Amino acid sequence: MNVTKRPASKLSEIDFSNLGFGKFYSDHMLVKVYEHGAWKESEIVPYEYFPISPANITLHYGQSIFEGMKAFRGDDGIVRLFRPEKNIARLNISAERMAIPQLDEKETLNELVELITLDQDFTPPHLGSSLYIRPFIFAMDPNLGVKISDTYRFMIICTPVDAYYGRNLQTVGIFASKTFTRAALGGTGHVKAAANYAQSLYAAKQAQLKGFKQIMWLDGRDHKYVDEVGTMNIMFVIGDTLITPTLEQGTILAGITRDSVLRIARDLGWKVEERLIAFQEVVDAGRKGTLQECFGTGTAATIAPVGRIGSEGMDDIIVNGNEVGPYAKKIYDELLGIQYGKLPDRYGWTVEIKKPKK
Ligand SMILES: *Cc1c(COP(=O)(O)O)cnc(C)c1O
Repeated sequence: MNVTKRPASKLSEIDFSNLGFGKFYSDHMLVKVYEHGAWKESEIVPYEYFPISPANITLHYGQSIFEGMKAFRGDDGIVRLFRPEKNIARLNISAERMAIPQLDEKETLNELVELITLDQDFTPPHLGSSLYIRPFIFAMDPNLGVKISDTYRFMIICTPVDAYYGRNLQTVGIFASKTFTRAALGGTGHVKAAANYAQSLYAAKQAQLKGFKQIMWLDGRDHKYVDEVGTMNIMFVIGDTLITPTLEQGTILAGITRDSVLRIARDLGWKVEERLIAFQEVVDAGRKGTLQECFGTGTAATIAPVGRIGSEGMDDIIVNGNEVGPYAKKIYDELLGIQYGKLPDRYGWTVEIKKPKK
C-alpha cells in the first residue's frame, strides 16, 4: 500500500482534555477507489478535503454506508482495536443491501491496522475516551440518473473522542415514538445506511424538544414492539432477566456491543432472552416495579443507562430511581475491562496495535 505521510503532525494542536466527539481528526486517512468494475489498491494519505462533483450521486440519492469502531489505550499504553473484523463483515452486509461492491475483508482489516498503527498516538489515554474509527463507502458517479453507481470511494478516518455521554456513567431519558418510524419490514433497518440517520433526525429533534435525549423506535407497522434507540440497541432487565429485541425481524442493527454484552451476560450466568418485546410490557413492568433497569448499547456510547422512558399519552416511567443500576454497571466494567486491557481478553476480542518503529 502506498503511504504518503503528513510532513508535520497535527498531534500538538489537539486538546486532549476537551475532545468532544468528532471535533479533531488524525493525521492520515485511508482511500480506496472503485472503478471499471474493481477496487483499486488502497492508499494512506494526509487527512484532507477532496473535490466532488455537484452531480455526485451520493449527494442526491444517498447511496452511502458506514461503520463505527474504536481503538482504546490501556494503562499499559497499548492501543487495542475491539472486534474490528465484525465491523468489516458488517460493512459488507450493508454494501450488499445498498448495491455497493463488497471489500476483501482480510485485506481491509490489514489496511485498517496499518492506518491505526500509523496514527495510534491520537488514541487518548483516559478511561471512556478512545480513537473513534469511521470506515465508509459512498457512490462517486457524477450523474443525476437514478441508478446504481459505477464508481465508489472507500475511506477510513479517525477522530479522538471523549465518552459520548460524559466520563461517568449517567442516565439518559428516551422517548418511545408512536408517530415516527425508523425501519420497515424489508427495508434497510439492519444495515448502517446513511439514509437511516438522515430520516431519523427530525424525529429525534421532536423528542429532544420534549426533554429526551433520544428516540426509542417501535416497530414500523404497529408501533407495538420495541426496536432500538437512536444509535444504540436497547436492553431491559425485567425481574431477573436481561431482555433485548430479537434481530429476526430484520429491522434492527445487529450491534457488536449488543452481541458482546449478551455473551458476557450469559457467561455471568444471567438469564438472557432475545425476543419480541411489546412496549406495553415495558410500561406494565415499570408500573408494577419489576422493570429493574434499561440501558442502550453501542460503540459510540458503550453502555447508556436509561433513567426515564416517555411516550405519547402516558406519564414517564422512572427506571431504578433514575440511577445507574447494578446490571448496567457490571456490564460496563466487564466490557471496558476487556477493551482497555484491564481484564484478560477471554474471548479473543481485541487486536493489539504494535508500537511504531521509531
Ligand atoms: C451502529 C448502530 C448500533 C450499534 O452497533 P454497535 O456495533 O454496537 O456499535 C445500533 N443501532 C444503530 C441504528 C446503529 O447504527
